[in-house]
Amino acid sequence: MTELDVTPTPLALLMLGRQSDAASERGVDCPGALPPASDPSLVERAREAKAALGGKVFVLGHHYQRDEVIAFADVTGDSFRLAQQAAARPDAPYIVFCGVHFMAESADILTGPGQHVVLPDLAAGCSMADMATFEQVEDCWDQLVEAGVADATVPVSYMNSSAAIKGFTGRHGGTICTSSNAQRALDWAFGKGTKVLFLPDQHLGRNTAVRDLGLSLDDCVVWNPRKPMGGNTVQQLQAAKMILWKGHCSVHGRFTVDAVIDVRARVPGVQVLVHPECSYEVVSAADLVGSTERIIKLVEASPAGSKWAIGTELNLVQRLANAHPDKTIVFLEKTVCFCSTMNRIDLPHLVWALEELVAGRIPNQITVEPETAAYARQALDQMLALP
Ligand code: SF4
Repeated sequence: MTELDVTPTPLALLMLGRQSDAASERGVDCPGALPPASDPSLVERAREAKAALGGKVFVLGHHYQRDEVIAFADVTGDSFRLAQQAAARPDAPYIVFCGVHFMAESADILTGPGQHVVLPDLAAGCSMADMATFEQVEDCWDQLVEAGVADATVPVSYMNSSAAIKGFTGRHGGTICTSSNAQRALDWAFGKGTKVLFLPDQHLGRNTAVRDLGLSLDDCVVWNPRKPMGGNTVQQLQAAKMILWKGHCSVHGRFTVDAVIDVRARVPGVQVLVHPECSYEVVSAADLVGSTERIIKLVEASPAGSKWAIGTELNLVQRLANAHPDKTIVFLEKTVCFCSTMNRIDLPHLVWALEELVAGRIPNQITVEPETAAYARQALDQMLALP
């Protein structure tokens, strides 16, 4: 038998909603009694609980959430817009974040001490964020020091990362970025150093570096945290401009070039619009690339009769299609692509969280340890200060 070239994942793999693992947001029991999903009074219960809480609660809904949850959101948006919105409501003691764990952490970092951030289901994690653990990233940095390249390297971390990774980024003088400002973040970082360690989404890093900054694919190396030196030689690390962490989004990673070719044949005149978390090959085959907010704006601004094939999370694509019946809007892949962790938050969890707050209990509060929060805040503030 040959030995497999793998090492065990540092995160315990648990069944969603069963058992608990404090080091990961996956597989966490709900501490209360959830109402059944079939309960016909759920909508009414959510409405009543929200009305009882009044201005004390502010409900945030990420674009990828189900319609039944979005119906109760005070504001919808991408992860950064939602964190900003939470910070802009210092009068609301309870922020119910209908998104995933890293987003609730960012909201906790950006909100005041009297505010409590609640994630209705602790199993709503993000597989991409889980692909870069603090220990792995610290180990990577130690090896970059060993290779003599750390001094020239500036960390740039995508918003879709844990608070611990954001803290690492701030501690090493780096910045956070979103899919909307990744180009500006890289421009800033290359004004400060000669290399970037981009965490944790290799695709956003590669797409931005090559397509927006004009670097070549050869300027990029991938850091595999399971291999010594990330699977690179010291010479390769010295020559590289972009060190891309080997992480990806399990939703956007599923779109293929074949799907682009197929939809062009099926829908003549279609414009293919994809998210930059898709692979370089898919983005290159598409007509347009854009963050979630840009995708929404492009579709909204397009004339009646426009035809779009969209490569992003299915809930958002379906909502766009429903909102624009005068346009043809199709999902890029043939297979279903929901974000399964984002979809952990459903109406029963939202009702449970709101009713707990009405009862004077704070369920599933997300808090970031103060030292990590301070460094993470530095990296987030650096992003806000980007030119
Ligand atoms: S869509 Fe991808 S990046 Fe976004 S929360 Fe889901 S797994 Fe994470």
